[in-house]
Amino acid sequence: MKQLVILSGKGGTGKTSICAAFAHLASIEGSQGGIVLADADVDAANLRLVLSPVEAETTEFWGGSLAEIDPDVCIGCGECVPVCRYYAVLDDPQRLNKKWIDPVACDGCAACVYACPTSAIRMVVQQEGFWFRSDTAYGTLFHAELFPGRENSGKLVTLVKQNARLWAEEHQVPLVIIDGPPGIVCPVISACAGADLGLIIAEPSLAGIHDLKRIQATMQHFRVPQVIAINKADIYPDGVQQIREFADKNNIQVLGEVPFDPLIPHSMLLGLPVTEKFPDSDSSRAIRHLWQTVATLIEPL
Ligand code: SF4
Ligand code: SF4
Repeated sequence: MKQLVILSGKGGTGKTSICAAFAHLASIEGSQGGIVLADADVDAANLRLVLSPVEAETTEFWGGSLAEIDPDVCIGCGECVPVCRYYAVLDDPQRLNKKWIDPVACDGCAACVYACPTSAIRMVVQQEGFWFRSDTAYGTLFHAELFPGRENSGKLVTLVKQNARLWAEEHQVPLVIIDGPPGIVCPVISACAGADLGLIIAEPSLAGIHDLKRIQATMQHFRVPQVIAINKADIYPDGVQQIREFADKNNIQVLGEVPFDPLIPHSMLLGLPVTEKFPDSDSSRAIRHLWQTVATLIEPL
């Protein structure tokens, strides 16, 4: 079983559109034995918007712990206030001479627990979201939802990927396609871990080229073999040239270029991959060529 992770240094490059199109193409042109999909962008999971999944399994995600004060035990001494570096301990708005912990500000460090002379504070494990196994027309999709303001997105990405991998192994599915999150922080690293091939979707804009360099360095650090595809390639030819020069310098293969095409966002609005809704469009032809190249690369890895 192989893992292909699709990443971009920034949002808005068309990564999820291409991932959805790959899912469609894999279902009609191989990979033989199908694919499993993992949406690793748990902060803003969008793959489900294009793939119309039907939920088959929903599981609560319990993450870190936050401090809570028992008002019946708190004597209002204030010992917990100065130890909190996050200014999370406040006067209780509902009870006189009691303290209260703001759950949004609390970082879960537990320093206040040790400072409290009456043992009024305890750490309480929090539910931070859900993860799902869903059926789509193109394969099983693992995805997640992180509650607003919650942390541990890297942990949730790992959980989504682990379950996708286990499902693929159990059902002898040869390929997991991972739609990675934008940026270069913790969830991206979780998305990269263990991948056999990383496809970077680069956009020929100033920000796109800057962020391409950052994601390339991140993937190189974690020793994920990389290839590049340039999306919206016709919006800035000089930018395409810069991306190609960067790729040459770093010995990274550029697999192809996808033109800017309003049919891509249009098909997303309709909830379908562009290759399914508009199979003869220029963008669909380019993405099909891209998929065929990726499939030949990942097969022997
Ligand atoms: S657990 Fe840490 S961050 Fe949270 S209230 Fe206590 S000291 Fe502050
Ligand atoms: S240290 Fe304990 S008793 Fe004192 S204010 Fe804080 S929670 Fe209340």
